[in-house]
Amino acid sequence: MRLLVVSILFMLTYAYAQDEVYSEWWESIFLQADHAPIGPDNGGLPAIYTVIISSEGAQKEEITSFVSEFDYLTFSSAENDHVNISILVHNEEDLDSLTSRKPLQAQVLRNHEETQRLRQYEARTKSPSVASNTIPGFPCLRNLQGVFDTMEELAEKALSIESLTVEIIDIGDTYLKTVNSTDGYDMKVLKITGNGVAKRGGSTEKAIMFVTTGVHAREYVPPELGTRFAEALVNGYGVDADITSILDHTEVHLVLESNPDGRFVAETKPALYQRKNQRPGCANSDAGGVDLNRNFPFKWGLDSGSSNDTCAQTYRGSGPASEPESQAIIEYAKSIFPESQRKDDPIGQINDPFKEDTRGFYTDIHSYSELIIWPWSFENEVSPNDEGEQSLARKIKSFNSYKLSGPQQPDFLYTASGIIADWFYGELGAVSFTYELGTAFYQDCATVENEIIPSNLPSLIYAAKTSLTPLSLSKGPDITNLLLPEKLSYHPTTTLEIIIKISDSALSAGPPGYSTSMQTISTISLTVDMHPNDKDNDGNGPNIIQLAVDSNTGTVTKSLSYPLSIFVFSFREPTIGPHTIYAFGTDSDGYVGPVTAASIELTCFDETTSNVNCALVGDEGCTSIEVQTACPKMCSIC
Ligand SMILES: [Zn+2]
Repeated sequence: MRLLVVSILFMLTYAYAQDEVYSEWWESIFLQADHAPIGPDNGGLPAIYTVIISSEGAQKEEITSFVSEFDYLTFSSAENDHVNISILVHNEEDLDSLTSRKPLQAQVLRNHEETQRLRQYEARTKSPSVASNTIPGFPCLRNLQGVFDTMEELAEKALSIESLTVEIIDIGDTYLKTVNSTDGYDMKVLKITGNGVAKRGGSTEKAIMFVTTGVHAREYVPPELGTRFAEALVNGYGVDADITSILDHTEVHLVLESNPDGRFVAETKPALYQRKNQRPGCANSDAGGVDLNRNFPFKWGLDSGSSNDTCAQTYRGSGPASEPESQAIIEYAKSIFPESQRKDDPIGQINDPFKEDTRGFYTDIHSYSELIIWPWSFENEVSPNDEGEQSLARKIKSFNSYKLSGPQQPDFLYTASGIIADWFYGELGAVSFTYELGTAFYQDCATVENEIIPSNLPSLIYAAKTSLTPLSLSKGPDITNLLLPEKLSYHPTTTLEIIIKISDSALSAGPPGYSTSMQTISTISLTVDMHPNDKDNDGNGPNIIQLAVDSNTGTVTKSLSYPLSIFVFSFREPTIGPHTIYAFGTDSDGYVGPVTAASIELTCFDETTSNVNCALVGDEGCTSIEVQTACPKMCSIC
């Protein structure tokens, strides 16, 4: 055995001798002595295996329950006569059970190409990294310290942004910290919200958006996506009308590192493919830990979709919410979502739908497989709110083109019990999703920057807009375009051109003709300087400018030209200066869609001609307005 190893090493050494990565490669073999060498697939574990199952020989249920016992990676059912399942095999025990439990007629093959890819991710992780706040070899991905540093920076930055609040909230400790206070980490929430409505003397009921990332430690990209989302919100507040409107009407709660103990291992010892937390408990210590996404107390403990084997990747823990990380998230989330919308007996009343005006959006972001998953996951049955959940899943899909992987969908994967998204929906009423980003745990930066971030960041911003009452807002029509001039020189007769496009179906991706996306547009409404949901200090809402809608098939584009004098009566801010226009519509089933905002700045100067619009204010007050090339007076508005 030793001889064989030596001769393989010799051959590899020869092959790599002229390669610049040689020294890291050599070092990594000895540093990772318990694991497979980094380089081409020359055997060893972990490795990727492909299971090929003939569709004729096996029921789908049988296949999915088999798959759920393993560290499943991808599932391809493109070929009609068989499915290909790719599985990450961590150790000999895994490999034994894979071969012994496979369905009859299934073939189990080692996938050399994919295993080699895993080794390459690992090699890249070993390459020298300049920045200490990113994962070695992945300059696009912040590491634990990088994410925590960014949280601090955003909180600091918010101090100088009017009406923006960014708080870091300590919600508990990780497992290691509960054992020894000098080890482990605090569990932290980054809370972001705007106070613009209150600042203007109004009031509003804020939506709740709750996001967890990093639950599975080896999924490198999700915490980065969550952090970029936080940055987009903070940097857009007061700059971008839509982001400002979202934050003034939403509390965003982000647990960017939901499993920091595990994450530390995943970032520093990538060969372990650490998924779970750091509670010990498996004889093979590498495979210890509890899968936090099987540890939540809704339908916890089912043998389908979780494991009671402490070494399994889906080990559910010794009891529901046994883990301090789970407890921290649960206690905090309960303090955020309204108690009034919960059921007395969530399991007993499992078939009762939550009301359409139930508040709150939740997503747990994982990788990988390019999927959008929604409840239920503990069984392949739709929830009583499936129509609203699926409406929103389709709208998320319109941004990222991921597969719809909810219950009873062709791309439903396998059951998973005790998962976080089932708990947020079942216990709290939040409309819940699990994202599976991208195509790899250790995703390359080109894919992260060019595909994953640009397609998923807008989906989160869209989801935030629905988070007041996602079950109904997701069924309404969407403003897909709201175009205003950035600046306009003020004169009462100046026309303001607005282009507005609204559609009930445009963002409903997936097989066409979904029930909530087939209505016609009944109304399009605009408000100025006051969000449609807000109340002023007398308890009154804004003036609503309702636009006439002709008969239509569900998508309407309107080009409006109104003299500014029409809007002046609705202005709640000084005429000269920035204004916000809010737009929303209703469909013929009466569903109101999300609100979209855009801004315009009215100026005294016509920058194109250098003309100035001046009010001639005489002793008797306002007389007329005339245009002068050089205005001797301050611009004042009649
Ligand atoms: Zn995961």
